Amino acid sequence: MRTGTATRRGYRGPLRAVVLDWAGTMIDFGSMAPARAFVRAFEAHGVVVSVEEARGPMGVDKRTHIARMGAEPAIAARWMATHRGAAMTSEDIDQVHAKFVALEMSLVREHAALVPGARELANALRARGLKIGTTSGYSREIMDVVAELARAQGYAPDASICAGETPSGRPGPLQCYEALVALDVWPVAGCIKVDDTLAGIDEGLNAGMWTVAVAVTGNEVGMTREAWEGLGAMAQRALRQRAYDRLLAAGAHYVIDSVAELPSCIEAIEARLRRGETP
Ligand SMILES: [Mg+2]
Repeated sequence: MRTGTATRRGYRGPLRAVVLDWAGTMIDFGSMAPARAFVRAFEAHGVVVSVEEARGPMGVDKRTHIARMGAEPAIAARWMATHRGAAMTSEDIDQVHAKFVALEMSLVREHAALVPGARELANALRARGLKIGTTSGYSREIMDVVAELARAQGYAPDASICAGETPSGRPGPLQCYEALVALDVWPVAGCIKVDDTLAGIDEGLNAGMWTVAVAVTGNEVGMTREAWEGLGAMAQRALRQRAYDRLLAAGAHYVIDSVAELPSCIEAIEARLRRGETP
């Protein structure tokens, strides 16, 4: 064996791309559409679940999400109580998922508005020469609807990788990698992943990207824009604090209220790259 003497310096260049999540990050303030679709899909099978229970595994692909919900002891007990003592089977999960997809197709239309500042952010990223990729827990059939609704509002990312399009998904990094391939961008240290869920934070960290969490518009606060704006300052502060704490504990490099604040993270990250820091 001989040991090479060349040392390779870490990436110190500018940021190259941002990989954005969809629901709760760029569209659908509060990530309402999937939360409501999970509740109604279980309800259609005779099982009452709370919105909070439906939000627990948010971010992973939707069939896995349903399986995880069904494995929660409280939900598993309710399932058995309404299914003559039988536990949830793989076929049951398929059926709940089919119902979820049908419900989601209409719910995404009701919750497709871009979050405030999202379109301006996308324009600002382009102006800086950054490419825009996306990853999602949504399957392609739902994404086709979501992407068209976003395009009509002026947001059209350069690449979108859906659940099921890589051998494994969140919390693994493969959708992020696939997005970088589609964008023809590297290295990962020059990329930012932005997400509103714990699974999405894991995805970004596992990809080796700078990882930014959005707290207020996403799954952690979990309220529509109208409901959030109707809260008093004290209630907002308490919910914001809880969301920030959970997302920071998940390992996010930065937590912001919404993507409207992302430009300040870009400045901070580029300064860290220039100092030789890596994600
Ligand atoms: Mg999301």
